Amino acid sequence: MPSPQHPRGQAIADAAARVIPGGVNSSTRYIGAPYSFVEAAGAYVTDADGNRYLDYHAAFGAILLGHNHPAVNDAVRAALEGVDLVGLGVTEGEVALAERVVEILPSAESMIATMSGSEAVAQAVRLARAVTGRDLIVKFQGGFHGWSDAVARNVISPADRAYGRDPLSRGILPQALDSTLIAEFNDLDSVTALFEVHKDRIAAVIMEPIPHNVGALLPTTEFVTGLRELTRERGALLIFDEVITGLRHSLGGYQQVVGINPDLTTFGKGLANGFPSGGVAGPRDLMEHFNGQTGDVLLAGTFNGNAIACAAALATIDHLQANPDFYQRTHALGERMRTGLTELVTELDIEATTAGFGGIFVLYFAKPPILGYRDLLRNNDEAYVAFHRGMTERGFLMLPMSLKRNHISGAHTQEDVDRTLEAARDVLVALRAAGT
Ligand code: PLP
Repeated sequence: MPSPQHPRGQAIADAAARVIPGGVNSSTRYIGAPYSFVEAAGAYVTDADGNRYLDYHAAFGAILLGHNHPAVNDAVRAALEGVDLVGLGVTEGEVALAERVVEILPSAESMIATMSGSEAVAQAVRLARAVTGRDLIVKFQGGFHGWSDAVARNVISPADRAYGRDPLSRGILPQALDSTLIAEFNDLDSVTALFEVHKDRIAAVIMEPIPHNVGALLPTTEFVTGLRELTRERGALLIFDEVITGLRHSLGGYQQVVGINPDLTTFGKGLANGFPSGGVAGPRDLMEHFNGQTGDVLLAGTFNGNAIACAAALATIDHLQANPDFYQRTHALGERMRTGLTELVTELDIEATTAGFGGIFVLYFAKPPILGYRDLLRNNDEAYVAFHRGMTERGFLMLPMSLKRNHISGAHTQEDVDRTLEAARDVLVALRAAGT
């Protein structure tokens, strides 16, 4: 099958490279091919050269219901008729959004809006340090929590390893990096050991409840339960970064799935189905530290809780509440995809393991089990990237970076999944023939 051609995309990418550093507005958007998209509807996107793709990239997970979802877009259009931005007091939309988040998120009594997941994490970390009076944060190897200094390290994509990018960026003070301790996912002992060494200095443990930034490592029950008990015993906060998992895996996030309440939850991405948004939520006593009059932790942002973000987020939550079968559908499609991929690699005798949860699916090129960091190091990065690239060339948009996950949205169908599996067969056969 011929690769999609990109003459217009190339011209746009060339123009971008002249005025935007690296030609993209977020470091991880560059994938070595000149993609420029001009249309998006449901599960499909179309590039500037007219190539149409079934989208599993989903803007890194920000698209949850499908692209340009009519209910979300209608809500945004209606919001444009009201007040745009005044920056004083609060709007009814902001109140409605916080009320709704408190209603659906098991651990939330109060919520404050941000514009992105990174901001939410930075604020949650600051809050944890403020309330505990401690300085250190524990994160897990491979977990990604955005760009803020406290967490921008130990994200183990192969590119990071190849370019020696740990930390992810220069310009972060060594003190900030030294304040972030690294543990291994699904290894409670590695966290206990840090608490033993650093005693009363750990303010919080932050985790993606399923680390989707390295595909999909499912937490064992003992691990999450143990973390909850350990942090409580040691006076540290447990932060669930539900920027990807929140709303996607269940209305009440992954905390609802595992039945464990963290102290703080951060969210973003799918919350507003593609419109910029995010937030921090938790119990009132903790969240009141953000109270601008009586609290002691600054959380400020000109665009926080703006009309468009609130309208889009409310419409997204409304849609999910009115259509609970969203979860049955996306989970069933995810299961169909994972089962189909497992059958394929078994039949073709390819060393690979299928993973995921709900509508997220991943094909690791390594033998099972894949439970933690050490297992991820066995992944054949070259095969992983080649598989995603091969799929994209056939019209199935997957991010050609190792360990990146794929997302099934509310707009994907069973036929889409079956077509994907047919294409996956071709790509896997070609990979095997090439000896990748
Ligand atoms: N937390 C997690 C788990 C993420 O995956 C991301 C982004 O990929 C972030 C935080 C940062 O969110 P944003 O890109 O909205 O700043």
